[in-house]
This record gives sequence, C-alpha cells and structure tokens, in this order.
Amino acid sequence: MKILKFGGSSVATPERIQSVIEITKSYLSGPVAIVFSAFGGTTDTLIQISRLALDGNIEYKTSLAELEKRHLNAIRVLIDVQKQSSILAQVKFLINELEDVLHGIFLINERTLRSLDYIMSFGERLSTYIISEAYKNKGIEAEFLDARNVVRTDSNFGYAKINFDVTNRLIQEHFKKHRAVQIITGFIGTSDNGDTTTIGRSGSDYTAAIFAGALQATGLEIWTDVDGMMTADPRLVKKAFTVPQMSYEEAMELSHFGAKVIFPATMQPAMVSNIPIWIKNTFNPSFKGTLISAESTNGKLIKGISSINHISLLSVQGSGLLGVAGVSMRLFGTLGREKINVILISQASSEHSICFAIDTPSASMAKMAIEKEFQYEIKNEEIDEVQVENDLSIIAVVGEGMKHSPGTSGRMFSALGKNGVNVSAIAQGSSELNISAVIRQADVAKALSALHEAFFLSDRKLLHVFMVGTGLIGKTFVNMVHEQYVNLAKDNLLEVNVVAVANSKKMIFREDGLDLQTCIDDMNHQGEVMTMKAFVDRMLSLNLPNSIFVDNTSSEEVTNFYEAILSANVSIVTPNKKANSGPFQKYEALKKTAFKRGVKFLYETNVGAGLPVINTLNDLLLSGDKVVRVEAVLSGTLNYIFSSFTEGKKFSDVVKEAKAKGYTEPDPRDDLNGMDVARKILILSREAGSHLELSDIKVEDLVPESCKGDLSIEQFFTNLEKHDGAFEEMRKKAAGKKEKLRYMAILENGKVAIQLGGVNDQHPFYSLAGSDNIILLTTQRYHDRPMVIRGPGAGAEVTAAGVFADVIRIGHYSR
Ligand code: ADP
Ligand code: ASP
Ligand code: MG
Repeated sequence: MKILKFGGSSVATPERIQSVIEITKSYLSGPVAIVFSAFGGTTDTLIQISRLALDGNIEYKTSLAELEKRHLNAIRVLIDVQKQSSILAQVKFLINELEDVLHGIFLINERTLRSLDYIMSFGERLSTYIISEAYKNKGIEAEFLDARNVVRTDSNFGYAKINFDVTNRLIQEHFKKHRAVQIITGFIGTSDNGDTTTIGRSGSDYTAAIFAGALQATGLEIWTDVDGMMTADPRLVKKAFTVPQMSYEEAMELSHFGAKVIFPATMQPAMVSNIPIWIKNTFNPSFKGTLISAESTNGKLIKGISSINHISLLSVQGSGLLGVAGVSMRLFGTLGREKINVILISQASSEHSICFAIDTPSASMAKMAIEKEFQYEIKNEEIDEVQVENDLSIIAVVGEGMKHSPGTSGRMFSALGKNGVNVSAIAQGSSELNISAVIRQADVAKALSALHEAFFLSDRKLLHVFMVGTGLIGKTFVNMVHEQYVNLAKDNLLEVNVVAVANSKKMIFREDGLDLQTCIDDMNHQGEVMTMKAFVDRMLSLNLPNSIFVDNTSSEEVTNFYEAILSANVSIVTPNKKANSGPFQKYEALKKTAFKRGVKFLYETNVGAGLPVINTLNDLLLSGDKVVRVEAVLSGTLNYIFSSFTEGKKFSDVVKEAKAKGYTEPDPRDDLNGMDVARKILILSREAGSHLELSDIKVEDLVPESCKGDLSIEQFFTNLEKHDGAFEEMRKKAAGKKEKLRYMAILENGKVAIQLGGVNDQHPFYSLAGSDNIILLTTQRYHDRPMVIRGPGAGAEVTAAGVFADVIRIGHYSR
C-alpha cells in the first residue's frame, strides 16, 4: 500500500486537480490511498469568514457565497454535465450546514475552538468529496472517505492528539471492507465525544502519515508545490536547492523550526514503521524530490536552514533563580498549564536567568501567568518582572553532520556577525541536530541568505553593490562588471549584483540587480530624487548580505555617511580621497568601525589609481617591515605636464594640451596647486603609521599668484602665459645640470615634503613618461634598493579597474 497526499497548492484550481488525477493514474495498478487538503487558501478563508460572523459583520455571507461559487465551479469543470446535479446538490447541502453554524456565531457573538474546528473541517470535506467525484467521473473506482469516521482524537480542538490504538484499528477495519481507492480528507478527526476536531494547521501531511502507519504502507508521498525539501524556504532564499535525502530527525527538526513543506508530526508514524517519505512536486512530477528515511546520507555539515516569525522572547531573571531547584519546573509547568508552546529555551550557566521563545500571540498571557506563579518571589525582589521582547524570529540550522564536528556554530555566528545580524538568544539541542538563534524579524531574509551562503554555497558568493557617482569612473566600473559577469561567476565563483546606482540628482534601485547595460540611462530617466540620506536609508533597509557601498564621487558630503554605512555592516570601496585625507581622527575612526564590524573599507585607488600601492605597503607592514622613506611621483597630470615640457615648448601650451587630452581636472589649477598630491602622500603617511594632518604638509603651489582667484579658465591661461618665462627659466636651469623637472612627494621621519625639483639620469624618476606614477618604498627590508611600483597612475579605466579589484577582494575576504 502506498499513501499519497496532495496539499492545498496542488488542488488550488480545477486544472491542477486534473493534473493531480493524471499523476496518480500510474499508481492505480497497485494498492493506494490518497489524502487531500482543502483547496489552497480555503482554511484561511473559513477562519476569516467565521471572524466576520463573530464580529457581527454581515459581510460573512458575501465571502461564504464566494467560497460556494469556487466549489461549484470546480464541479462544473471536473464533472460531466449529466452527472453534475447530485454533486452540486451535495455541495450546496454542505454549504447550508456551514451557513447554519456561521449564522449561530453571528447571532450569539461567540465562537468556540470547538465550533472553529467544525467550520475548518468543511474545507477538506468539500475539496475531497469533489475530487473523489472527479476520479469517478474518469471511470476510476474511487470512494470518498471522511477521515472523521476513522481518525479518533482527544478534544484538544485546533491541535487534537491522535488516539492511535483506536485510529489504527478503525483504519484497518475500514480498509478490509473497502476495495475501491480511498480518497481521504486530511486534517480532521473525531473526538471521543463525537465532536469534529482538527489536528493542527497544515496537518493533512500528518493524516497521510497516520494512514501510512496504520496500513504499514510501503511508502508515503507528500506532493506539494516545490521540488522537495530544500536547503531553505525557496520563497525566502532564491538559491535554495533540493536536499535529495535526509533523516526523519532532520526533517522533523527543520519543520519544527518553520520549514512548512512538511508538518513536524508527520515523521513520527512513518519513523515507527520505517516507512520512507518522499516529498514530490506536483508541478514537476518527474523530478525525484526528497527522500526522508532512517538514514542521513552525509557529506554536508547541515541539511537545511529554517525560520519562524512572530516570536517573542521572555526572560525571567533574578537572584531567586540561583541554584533553587524546581524554579524551571514551576516556570515551564505554568506555561504547560496555559497550553503555551515553548519553542526554544536558553539558560545561562549562572542560572541567573532563563529566557525562552514563544509565539507572540501568547506572550502577554505567558507574562501574566508567570508573574502570578512567582508573585511572592517578585514581591521579595528575588525575581524581576518578566521582560518581553517582540518582533523576533527564530532561525535554525539543522543537520546530523554537525554532530562531533566543531565549527558549525562558529561558521553560523560569524556569518550572522559579518552581516550585522544581532543574536538575542542561542540554543543547541542536546542531540546536536540543530542550532537555533533568536534574531530580529527584520533581519530574517538577510540572515537566511547569509547562512545559506555560508553553509551551502561556501565557495560561491553573491555581492550586492550600491554605487554612487556615475561619472567616467562610475560608468567604466559598471561596464567592467557587465563584461566580467560571466567570467567572475565561472572563475571566481563570485556574482556581483549592482543593486543601486546614483548620481547627485537621481538614484535607482533593484534588489535582484540592475540591468548593467541600461542602468545609468534608466537612472537618468526613471530614477527617484537622490539624496545621500535617502540612498543610505534605502540601502540599509534592503538589508542584503555582503553589501558593498562603492563611492565613485569625489564628494566630501558622501564621505560623511561612511561611518553610518560601516556601522551597519556594509563594506565600502572608493577612489574618493576626501575621507582618508580629512582629519586624522575621522580616518582612524572609520578604520576602527570597519574592524569592529568585520567589514572592509578599501581605497587602493586613493593613491596611484589601480597600482597596488596601499595593499603592498600594508602587506609589508603586516609582515613586520618598517617604512624608512617613501619617494613618489603621485600626480599623473603633473607628470604628463613636466615630461612634455621640453625645449621649444611654452609651459602654458603644455598645460593647455594636457587639459585638451582630458588629463587635468576641469580647472587645471586643482592639479597645479599640488593639493591632490598632498592628499595622496598624506594617506600613504597615515598608512605607514604617522598621524599627520593635511595642514602639516608643506606643498609647493605651482599656481602663480596672478593666476589665483575667481578667474575663468581662459583668463587663467592668459595670465599663465605671463609666467611662461619663469617656468622656462626653471627648465633651463635643470637642463643645464642634465636634470629633468619632476613634481615629487617625499615622506621621511614622519615629515612630508612636496616640491618641484630636478632629477638626473641616475634617478628612477628621470625616465618616467606620460601620466605614469612611481612610488619608491625604502623599508628596513628593501634598504639598499627600494621597492619600485610604477605604471599608469591616472585615468578612468585604471581607476575603475582598481575599484573593481577591491570589490572582488571583499568577495574573497568574506569567504
Ligand atoms: P501544501 O499546500 O502542499 O501543503 P505548503 O504551502 O504547506 O504546501 O508547503 C510548501 C511550501 O513550504 C513551499 O511552497 C515553500 O515555500 C515552503 N517551504 C518552507 N521551507 C521549505 C523548505 N526547506 N523546503 C521546501 N519548501 C519550504
Ligand atoms: N487545510 C489545512 C490547512 O490549511 C490543512 C492542510 O492544508 O494541510 O491548515
Ligand atoms: Mg502543507
């Protein structure tokens, strides 16, 4: 005998019912019985209708009429016209019965748990009756079985317990007498008093298992709307995948902690008789699905991750708890008497406090009951008032693989920590089958994804990028991500989703990643009004794991948000020098926050664009080296200007040419004044350990006095021409000594000098051409010959590449 069960989602429409009948046809050659749920959503609707009636709202009649229509319509689709009338009549009869109860509730404004169970029973009774007729209509010898005839329970309405002795006997007797395929209602039973009961929401799975146990079935198949039991709820974690096999215990634990795909108690009857359970997908019937059996085939540390929302955490604490035997017995005894289900308990070893999680609707009742039980202790201040924390969730990782394998909880909590998910309580079952944690409900989606990645995709990583600044660097960066997307996934196992782009005017967001080919246009045309505050708020409210804020602007205002961004566990990558060359205290605070939060603040492109300057320096220092001297040409613009300033050329013409080629800032004075070089060497000095401020740095300003102030660019050039002579003088003087002019920054003994000076052909700077940068690092190790880092030090292409490299680096760090 095989037992099949089809859930509400599998029978939500007449068309789906038809495909269910098709699926089951191949089973009909052997002994089989099929359990059905109510049509998808019906149980909820029935509860709502009864609520309306209870509230004296006559609208309940409208809703009931709709429910009736839905069922009558199913008959019209599934049954041949000439056979419909008696079935329609039977359904109308049932609906009338239901209407009578609802009318009673409407009149007396009272709805007991008993009447609610009775009302809910109509869902399965209607659906299963209609489906049994649909089978018959196809010429299949089928019979409707109202499970209330055989499933005997206690009177715990809403969650009735099965009396297995009687139930097993009744089921066996029934099946001895009935040869036709039994089409059975899930979810419902009868109490010893003859009342209709239900066995818990989603309980049809359990009904099927009860039949499987009673009949010693060879298999139980739970057919639903997903490809089996998955590593996490696929509605919450897009990358969840099917677990091919797991043990009864693992399935029980996962479902207990929220995996709705199977009702926890379902495993119990199957386990007793070692009946394998298959979870299969009605919408993908050829897919194998999940096998739940006595074994847990291994390999993976854990099998799945699940979560339950609407949790409250109650804590009882005080000196009165210390070493006093029986306190927890009284505590949980009280909750038991109030029928409050405790989902998780965690007690500190000091026994000074006990905290436990329950569902939120029971929280105030639990608090009251406990405070009553412990009223004397509370009065004597041995126990404090019960603390209640709401809006929480429980998240659990489950798997037999974690037994005796240290590191599971480490991996779990480091993934949560890195993503800024705060944990309020932790519990590990003594069976070492699950670790569960209480977190804020607002963090659930992020926590699930982060854990899923940490346990199941540990070699694969999804990064979420939020980019501001869509100038040349920003645009190039987006293009690079676009071009590299496929290779990244293949070679680095990294996926980079650009979730947001913004400039100073507009911003656009898309949680599962923007179209990289059109996002900047889309931002310009359809974007919302941009403010940094709105951007940051939105980014933080999305609460995505592995979030990276990429600042491709040179705005100081943007850097004022860095602290808040890092504090919210979002990493930052930026070529913007404003933060690191601002006050030392700001630079230091940002580094500290990033460290404390376990996120990255990377700015390799602050100095030398894409050249590996800062990383190299840091690697040297980390390995115990010390910086003696840094000598560098750090401005691609100034190097271009001075290496093009050869005999026969006017200085002002060279600057004009540099501007025309796009090598200068819009106003060339921003290059000539040396501030950009000052900021770069300041950052290098700080990386090397000094605490300098920008004001400590003496800069040789190449902008002549008469070229300063509020001038147009043309005026500036006209004025600059008057100084061509002076620059030519300098050049000649250097040339006379066989030297070339270079604009150099030197850091030594904690002091920085920036000056225009001559270098001869023995000097490494002599041959530096074009817009290249060069950095000489003299350290204790690289003493006789300094380490040289040299290459293109300006331009959107190399800078964007450096930004991209930092983003990828974060992907690798967070592994
Ligand atoms: P049915 O109507 O067939 O009883 P349910 O809605 O009760 O179906 O259960 C199936 C749903 O369970 C899926 O659609 C899925 O969203 C949810 N679910 C939660 N956790 C998991 C998980 N770990 N694996 C698969 N599905 C899960
Ligand atoms: N129809 C019931 C419910 O929605 C039982 C089930 O679907 O398993 O809870
Ligand atoms: Mg279900």
